[in-house]
Amino acid sequence: MREITQKSMHYYRFDSLLQKEGWLSPAYVGVDERGTIQYISAQAPNQSLAFEAVQGFAVPGFQNGHSHAFQYAMAGLAESHPTGTHDDFWTWREEMYKCALSLNPDQAEHVAAILYAEMVRLGYTHVAEFHYLHHDKEGKPYAHLAEMGERMVSAAQRAGIKITLIPVFYQKGGFGLPPQERQKRFISKTVDDYLKLVDASADVVKKNSHAWLGISVHSLRAVDFEDITRTYQQAPKTLPFHLHVAEQKQEVDDCLAFCGQRPMQWLLENLPVDARFNLIHSTHLDDSELNALAKSQATVVLCPSTEGNLGDGIFRMKEYVKLGGHWCIGTDSHIGINPLEEFRMIDYRQRLVTHQRNTFEGDAAAYMVNEEIVRGRMAMGVNASNHFEIGQPLDAIVYSSLSHLPAATSEKNRLATIVFTGDSNRNIGTLVNGKWVVKDGHHREGKIIKENFAKAMMALGNR
Ligand code: ZN
Repeated sequence: MREITQKSMHYYRFDSLLQKEGWLSPAYVGVDERGTIQYISAQAPNQSLAFEAVQGFAVPGFQNGHSHAFQYAMAGLAESHPTGTHDDFWTWREEMYKCALSLNPDQAEHVAAILYAEMVRLGYTHVAEFHYLHHDKEGKPYAHLAEMGERMVSAAQRAGIKITLIPVFYQKGGFGLPPQERQKRFISKTVDDYLKLVDASADVVKKNSHAWLGISVHSLRAVDFEDITRTYQQAPKTLPFHLHVAEQKQEVDDCLAFCGQRPMQWLLENLPVDARFNLIHSTHLDDSELNALAKSQATVVLCPSTEGNLGDGIFRMKEYVKLGGHWCIGTDSHIGINPLEEFRMIDYRQRLVTHQRNTFEGDAAAYMVNEEIVRGRMAMGVNASNHFEIGQPLDAIVYSSLSHLPAATSEKNRLATIVFTGDSNRNIGTLVNGKWVVKDGHHREGKIIKENFAKAMMALGNR
């Protein structure tokens, strides 16, 4: 084992730090030069040791289970709805295609970098990039098959966030339909083509210590059923498997018309869905699907801001959790990227439809944060039974302990106060691998990230 000298260690003293069992106060945390926790205790390691005092409450960095980074370039641009026109998910998708067709690799990287930097500022320390913008603007594969994926990994590095790159298999224009012209940047024709893309992406990930790999088919409507099964069988079994399921009512109706089964029903009957699976949205489920899904131990990735923005519908969270189901959060189209808002929406949309306040039993904030961290990590392909313990990286969002409401609040009510009343003004910084990536609102690479983004937006001219 590597010798850790006191000299190579950096010590923090947080007013408090959230462990699985609750708050540790104060919390002395020593990290080695790689940012791995080597010491954690309410007592200082010794009287004379220097430490960095942080007047804040450290909470584990959130895991963003679902991102399409390029869509940030159009966030807020589809919110005008002229009288007499129809506007739903499918009309929004036309705008999204235009955006997807317009970005060159540099621009896609600059958009992703500022988005990821914002995620870090708001408390995410790892993102699952559900990546399907594979080819050039003519729809031809780049000489380096994973060119665009590699750009996402570079953007993440600059932004200081960990990334799970999930190359997506996208093959069809709908159930039984050939791909459309405007989907040409997304398409892998065969399972073999897709697996080549996975291999190229795996090479990128191998070279980057901040990157992990996942497997995905876009959705049941975007890949032949037989090829979905083949992809599952032929892709590495150790990697997390992600797909969109039953986001829209029309998708459920189209699936029924196509094969006589609902999307989630088909999935649960045809693939061995288990804890490795991450099912994005899962909005429209009947009773038997909800039961079987909870039993499967898969993770549902909920993206409440986007689901609300697109008018998807409401996932049956209260019933699902009672059945023992698991979930994490994602920000999908990035119309909203504040994790605290996602938590509140998850809880409040249940309160609004049930006319009751107890979506979850017990401490709602503690339950939601823990579930998101544990299941979010599984969605990233990161195995960890706990956070903030020796051997784990110090990835944390730190909330001010001086802000009037948390400052006046007991330990018992602290997390609920942070989750239910907080905005980003309380964020004093985010640590990734033991180092401040954002401190007092300033990102360590903020200037260059912002300049690059402004140039990219100027060239695109869509805002
Ligand atoms: Zn999505």
